[in-house]
Amino acid sequence: MAAALKHLDITHMVVVMSMNYRLFFALFLALSLVAGVAQDAESAASCHGTVGGGATSQQLRIAITVDDLPFADQGLSIDEQSKNASQLLATLQKHNVPAIGFVNEDKLLVPGEVDERIGLLRAWLDAGMTLGNHGFGHLGLQKTALAEAESAVLKGEVVTRWLMEQYDMAPAYYRYPYNQTGPTKEVRDAFSTFLTRHGYTVAPFTIQNDDHVYDRVYSYDLQHGEASEARRVRKAYLSNLAVVLAAHEKMSEELFGHHITQIFDLHANAINADSIDSILDRLEDRGYCFVSLPEALKDPAYRSPDGYAGPYGMTWLRRWAKGLGGVKFSVYPPDPQAWVTERHEMLASKMDATKP
Ligand SMILES: [Zn+2]
Repeated sequence: MAAALKHLDITHMVVVMSMNYRLFFALFLALSLVAGVAQDAESAASCHGTVGGGATSQQLRIAITVDDLPFADQGLSIDEQSKNASQLLATLQKHNVPAIGFVNEDKLLVPGEVDERIGLLRAWLDAGMTLGNHGFGHLGLQKTALAEAESAVLKGEVVTRWLMEQYDMAPAYYRYPYNQTGPTKEVRDAFSTFLTRHGYTVAPFTIQNDDHVYDRVYSYDLQHGEASEARRVRKAYLSNLAVVLAAHEKMSEELFGHHITQIFDLHANAINADSIDSILDRLEDRGYCFVSLPEALKDPAYRSPDGYAGPYGMTWLRRWAKGLGGVKFSVYPPDPQAWVTERHEMLASKMDATKP
């Protein structure tokens, strides 16, 4: 009996010990998770730095927005697009970026690839990002009748809405194709009213870096075995970025007297899949932390009047400058390097020549 009791006690002790151990382990895991989350929040929020190496230390904020989802193909196979898209998303996650991707649903309709292309959008939601509407067919409002542009908004939200509902979300942001907001003030205002009526907030941007120009040349070089040329294009892209950022920072300072929360307009393309880590590193080095689009839009700068209607897809900084009494900037963002622009134009005309 005593021996049996002893045995029972030992067994009991082992059970208790193992329960304690499990409890301890669970507690340890929970605490580590909490600490990890706190650390993540801290690393995402600790945004102290200087602009352009100046003496003023301040926190800069930027939202990352990515257009032309599921992916700007430039002749890439669906497998290559998937690989690039995963790389882009994994890097955004690595830097704690709450990005938004703007969808052109016409790009989903490729026979035999529909599921895979919808899967690319689902990957954004699985990665904790959100999606917005970039219009079916990517139609610029400059050359599209108002009614047609409006129906492209509704036609362009069907799959996105269905997907987002599965994540308890709904599309709420619209990005103008080519950033064309309307040829006249009347069309601009009518379209904007239409967007509001359908629950959309316009997604403006204050920084763009001609990434689509570099991407066309870069993708062509990669697909034609010109790896060293592609590297040269990528290097030029990143060196242009520094000047582009400095220009937009200066412009926002000249317009508002301080650095506003910026909204960066990038595209889902090959050059960004391969450069996003460097781009985000450089933004962090300049003192930026990453915020969501809705958070960026809380900056009062985004309530400034848009003083432009016409063919050019200019950034909001220039639209506001017109709306705020024609403020003149002392600096403008640079164009891509001349050799990049020349090669881009050559490739663009080559592609036009092969169109039926
Ligand atoms: Zn676009």
